[in-house]
Amino acid sequence: MTPVVAPGLDRDSDGQVFSDLEISEALIRRFDQSGPRYTSYPTADRFRNGYAAASYLKHLEERTAHGRAVPLSVYVHLPFCESLCYFCACNKIITKDHSKSAEYLDVLFREMAMVGAYLGRQRETVQLHLGGGTPTFLSAAELTALMDALRRHFVFTSDAELGVEIDPRTVTPETLAMLAGLGFNRCSFGVQDFNPQVQAAVNRIQPYEMVRTAIRASRDNGFESINADLIYGLPKQTLDSFRNTIDQLIDLSPDRIALYNYAHLPERFKSQRLIQAADLPSAETRMQIFLMSMRRLLAAGYVYIGLDHFAKTNDELNRARLNHGLHRNFQGYTTRAECDLIGFGVSAIGKIGNAYVQNHHSLNAYADRVEHGNLPTDKGFDLSHEDVMRREVIMAIMCSKPIDFAVFESRHGVAFTACFQQELAQLAPHIDAGLLAVNARGLHVLPTGRVFVRALAMAFDQYVRRPRVVTYSKLI
Ligand code: SF4
Repeated sequence: MTPVVAPGLDRDSDGQVFSDLEISEALIRRFDQSGPRYTSYPTADRFRNGYAAASYLKHLEERTAHGRAVPLSVYVHLPFCESLCYFCACNKIITKDHSKSAEYLDVLFREMAMVGAYLGRQRETVQLHLGGGTPTFLSAAELTALMDALRRHFVFTSDAELGVEIDPRTVTPETLAMLAGLGFNRCSFGVQDFNPQVQAAVNRIQPYEMVRTAIRASRDNGFESINADLIYGLPKQTLDSFRNTIDQLIDLSPDRIALYNYAHLPERFKSQRLIQAADLPSAETRMQIFLMSMRRLLAAGYVYIGLDHFAKTNDELNRARLNHGLHRNFQGYTTRAECDLIGFGVSAIGKIGNAYVQNHHSLNAYADRVEHGNLPTDKGFDLSHEDVMRREVIMAIMCSKPIDFAVFESRHGVAFTACFQQELAQLAPHIDAGLLAVNARGLHVLPTGRVFVRALAMAFDQYVRRPRVVTYSKLI
């Protein structure tokens, strides 16, 4: 089959020859399997139920005593939304009753006080992300109170990234000015698709002009980095309709674009049952949409960061990629090096050194625990040394960072090729396909392989072949 080599694919500036990036349809078919997105390793579906809050506190205390140099990243989950987007896989609560957010903030502040007592204020915080749900469901007064509480417990560095997810339907230019006034310097817009038919099919009506006004207002208010999320594979999408969406978004010139593939898992996400399966584009069309989108974004001057992320050449994500300084956390790619992540709110995930913790998924269980003076920890995972080694390899692959066998050996006391003999054998077809290079000194992902990093990383996941309760999304 003739490879699809897009004009403009030679725009990469790091010496990796993007014109060599031959993403053939055959290659996509070969690696079009289901797999995790590896925002953590092990993935969250492997976290163990009934993880003791005492273990979380012990990790917090130990890290605060011995790991002062490790900065903090903070995530706050704000679950309320006014209406349901049918494709949504987030943990959200649909309500028009805005008194809910005041009750929720009360609980959140108590949780912060409990964690804050163990953390102290000596560790600096370099990153904050408000996610949801819809953070701007909260009123200006509530968001101000939230930032006050966060600043009481955490010391943000002067260059800290303060990010917020924005639903364009819930903001005005005044809201964006207010958020900038609170210190937010990054925002991420849920755009998904501009086509009115697609918007109707997923119950998310937000005309192009509405998004344009919001993105312009965020730029006018000095947000340093503006991200826009798109989703391909949604009902009623066609190659032509999504081409228009891509072109309209390019006109708005966000600094970063995430191009997610829609995972239709109605057995897992109830709201997705409202989507007519017959309206979904075929696998063939999805693949064409992905290739067309990539082509147009690269031709417009965006650089492929990896997986489903694109950024302008002068964006720090791209600079970090060129310097092998990309990292991956629950928000996706980041330039911030190793941080401990403190998660607040229902279902929020934290990462403390070699442990993950997750709060109760149900709002009632979460609030009940906190109101009784307990941390709402529900699940968690303490990584073994083997998990830590595998995480390092998986995250390096996800970020397309080379792995130097000698460095790995000195860090972990094991010879990489002996330790991962089976995995390297499993990767032989990927090596033959030009996705990955392995020699005596190390391993690195080749330009074409950056599209398939999930498939490459899966070779090192010791849990992925074990029985699981969740279904992963398709790679493309
Ligand atoms: S996509 Fe966002 S706004 Fe829509 S229901 Fe999900 S969390 Fe709420």
